Amino acid sequence: MENQLQTILDDIKTGQRMSEEEALGLLRVRDRQVWEIAAVADEVRERRVGNAVTYVRNQNINVTNLCVNTCGFCGFSKKPGDDGIYFHDKSEIQKKASLAKKREVTEICTVSGLHPDFNAKSYCDVYRWIHEAAPGIHLHASNPMEVAYAAKKTHMSTHEVLVAMKEAGLGSMCGTAAEILVDSVREKICAQKVSTDEWVRIIKEAHALGIPTTATIMYGHCESDEDRVRHLSILREIQDETHGFTELVPLSFIHMNTPLYRAGIARAGATGREDLLMVAVSRLFLDNFKNIQVSWVKEGIKMAQLGLIAGANDLGGTMFEESISKGAGAINTDYLDPAEMQRVAEDIGRTLKRRTTLYETL
Ligand code: SF4
Repeated sequence: MENQLQTILDDIKTGQRMSEEEALGLLRVRDRQVWEIAAVADEVRERRVGNAVTYVRNQNINVTNLCVNTCGFCGFSKKPGDDGIYFHDKSEIQKKASLAKKREVTEICTVSGLHPDFNAKSYCDVYRWIHEAAPGIHLHASNPMEVAYAAKKTHMSTHEVLVAMKEAGLGSMCGTAAEILVDSVREKICAQKVSTDEWVRIIKEAHALGIPTTATIMYGHCESDEDRVRHLSILREIQDETHGFTELVPLSFIHMNTPLYRAGIARAGATGREDLLMVAVSRLFLDNFKNIQVSWVKEGIKMAQLGLIAGANDLGGTMFEESISKGAGAINTDYLDPAEMQRVAEDIGRTLKRRTTLYETL
């Protein structure tokens, strides 16, 4: 593999596109060559987006944790009759949104559980309430699952739902609900969710309507290396066609409180080697993505910092409120002070820069 690895890395440096088979080989490296891959990914990052480490001031409003789905990796959702159910009404949502505005947050995210009573109007109402309370804020909300759910509940097409959401103030959509875009894996971890084809179709519909989205991959549960590469390949194909992805956010599986882990179907999350290689290989494979984000919520700030010297350029958001990863057992997910982000960035000789959701400098 040593010579082969060197050839792949040399080819990438000259701008050649990596094949799925080559990406697979890289993901399987287990020794000190991990550092060589990370170093080339770091070089590519520098060439593509420069040396700034970016972040956004954002706040999550998880409207409800009541959800009709039962995804095996989710430690956040509740069923009717469970303890700890919450639902934020208009006044609570607006209170949180105006507090966000006071905190100089520029982005509010609202992905939530699929409430049994929600339809397209419910989502649009939430967006309008937020804009009323926090004018000028960028709304980063929904995802292909919510769009499909709203469409089903309202007897509309997903395209019509997206048009309505955009009119209600949706600025960009979350590329979550992707998990792993391989149906045999989805069957095991989130059988009620949109299929791979539906996810791809809704994302393309959003991009065609001028709604940019993030892209995500949730790894470290029961997927294989081949599944990870297939997933990245689907994202690269979409990006070639639409250029609508703002960034990739690799999401390391948080296993502790999840049914999937308790049932012995998933392993206890990715290792440090896998976290590092996921960032590096994503940077190298996704030659049409500008931004690779490291999630301090999923990986912790120390691992996130290492990701920044392995191909990532973005630290994500300050997250003034986060319930989903906390529900699954992650700790310290509520807020990351930009001063700490700056410490981490400066420690590796880089400068921290604030950005908007769409990566404009602030
Ligand atoms: S991941 Fe989302 S859709 Fe699945 S159970 Fe949790 S809240 Fe519901």
